Amino acid sequence: MKMIDLRSDTVTKPSMGMKQAMWDAELGDDVFGDDPTVHQLEELAATMLGKEAALFVPSGTQSNLIGIMIHCQRGDEYIVGQEAHTYKWEGGGAAVLGSIQPQPVHFEKNGSLDLHKLVNYVKPLDEHHPRTKLLCLENTQAGKVLPLSYLTEAKNFCEQNHLLYHLDGARVFNASVKLFVDVKEIAEHFDSVSICLSKGLGAPVGSVLCASKDKIKEARRWRKVLGGGMRQAGVIAAAGIYALKNNIQRLQEDHENAQLLATLLNEIDGIEVETQDIQTNMMYVNLPAQHEQSISLFLKDKGIIFPRGKRIRLVTHLDIQRQDILTVVNEVKKFMQEYHFVAQST
Ligand SMILES: *Cc1c(COP(=O)(O)O)cnc(C)c1O
Repeated sequence: MKMIDLRSDTVTKPSMGMKQAMWDAELGDDVFGDDPTVHQLEELAATMLGKEAALFVPSGTQSNLIGIMIHCQRGDEYIVGQEAHTYKWEGGGAAVLGSIQPQPVHFEKNGSLDLHKLVNYVKPLDEHHPRTKLLCLENTQAGKVLPLSYLTEAKNFCEQNHLLYHLDGARVFNASVKLFVDVKEIAEHFDSVSICLSKGLGAPVGSVLCASKDKIKEARRWRKVLGGGMRQAGVIAAAGIYALKNNIQRLQEDHENAQLLATLLNEIDGIEVETQDIQTNMMYVNLPAQHEQSISLFLKDKGIIFPRGKRIRLVTHLDIQRQDILTVVNEVKKFMQEYHFVAQST
């Protein structure tokens, strides 16, 4: 049975074309700098993002951590969203492994950090304070796209306050497709950008950190320190190249599928979708109280995977077709009808 897995866009499996590219990849020992496919991926990513250089790393978590470590020293701090991946979902890596303190600030509703509020968090140079060195943004943030004008304002803010500027761009291609702009127009604001190949782009593994030549040289050292030096990594880099060449424009389909799913689910009595915030491939859905367990069990039986919880996140991706959306809506409808039937008969 085909599973329709809506938990995340990380669940995609490599396509035949992608596997063929992996099979055909020319390989070498990348710790010695000998893997031509890894070089090709790094050059491609750097060119696409308009940066001088790039580094292939095993995960987005490591990419962000290295991004923070190339900008900050021990005792420095970075400003970051309270719910940001680089603060809340990376095990405190910057603090644990980099001796770099986060200064979390709540995101605004549109996924930005309010620059007027941030002013108060940039500490004056004083030996009592950590040295504020870096601002980290996330784009998309919970599926929301940061406007280009905001990126410019935040860049000016960084310049005025002598901060460096990092983007957790795990889903930055969803943002560029949504805005109809070249991803360069987003990346050009930042000193470093981390992208994920293993989310909507459909590669099985890997992220790329893009920045200046000097910063990437430093990043390469930290990658080795963190245990991220990989040998014949061209076998996975090939999947990344394939993803960058084939799977960006089609993100549009994921966005359309998300809109369709949201609209149809929201029409079902008892299901409430937070429709106002859906811009890309992600949505938040409120399930009827007391039924959050039974609905996911019911759906699993039908080959549909929902996360468990009262307020769940659903994500569309390249292994979900329009027909799957209709299937999901149908099954949720059936569940709700059954539930109403039981509710009425007791
Ligand atoms: C997935 C993700 C990452 C990186 O996660 P890994 O699982 O380590 O690749 C970073 N930032 C955001 C916003 C993400 O969604």
